[in-house]
Amino acid sequence: MLLKDKTVIITGASRGIGRAVARECARQGGRVVIGHSGSAQGNQAAASLIEEIHAFGGQAIDVPGDAADPDTGDKLVAGALEAFGSVDVFVNNAGICPFHSFLDMPRETYLRTVNTNLNGAYFAVQAAANQMKNQGRGGAIIAISSISALVGGGMQTHYTPTKAGLHSLMQSCAIALGPYGIRCNSVLPGTIATDINKDDLADPEKLAYMTGRTPLGRLGEPDDIAGPVVFLASDMARYVTGASLLVDGGLYVNLQ
Ligand code: NAP
Repeated sequence: MLLKDKTVIITGASRGIGRAVARECARQGGRVVIGHSGSAQGNQAAASLIEEIHAFGGQAIDVPGDAADPDTGDKLVAGALEAFGSVDVFVNNAGICPFHSFLDMPRETYLRTVNTNLNGAYFAVQAAANQMKNQGRGGAIIAISSISALVGGGMQTHYTPTKAGLHSLMQSCAIALGPYGIRCNSVLPGTIATDINKDDLADPEKLAYMTGRTPLGRLGEPDDIAGPVVFLASDMARYVTGASLLVDGGLYVNLQ
């Protein structure tokens, strides 16, 4: 019960990595606030996750809202306060990666990606941090960045800067929020099989290439990210701030 009595907000928690993180946070005793887009698919997925969490005796609510909207962070915080009375952990996870080549990148695709992954995240982190500061007992903020913060991708020129930006945001926020006991860290997943990359990985050659490059011999699963996030959220990581944790099965170091 590493997160007992902590309220944990997770954005993009209806599916994929965020869903696995939310489930594990609830298993660890956290009271979970599930963020999602509010689409029909998001609503349905969030409802089924709440059911799953209730089934093992956990506590969860959902708060829909577009991650690109600067007001969504305030709504998540308000929802957490109304249901559970505090915000102790904020996990910024919502993100999109519509693969596209650079030279003909539509402006709309670029702007939507940056607004969803980074600009909305900035204000959501700010909203959570202000609430934690007002509570006066510190807190933990974790950004789900990516291995893409460290390496490029020809079909991801709009995406990789957002992930480097989140990583940098956590470093700067660690300094800005350290005096309030609020720790800020990032998690950098490698290739995790989810909806975000299912079309890309449907190509058997690409799948074999990515698997072959991973020293642990398999792609990641959403559950592989949950443990590292719980660690950073918990008091076990009480002296960890401004850090980043690669969770990639060894993919990044496998160059030669
Ligand atoms: P996913 O399976 O596609 O899930 C994305 C989640 O984000 C969903 O819960 C979705 O909610 C939510 N979301 C998307 N757009 C949103 C919006 N505009 N407003 C609110 N919520 C929105 O993707 P994933 O692979 O789990 O990715 C989660 C995070 O991990 C992303 O930030 C991604 O960049 C990062 N990451 C993933 C990988 C990987 O290989 N999978 C690697 C490194 C980093 P709805 O259900 O409502 O659409």
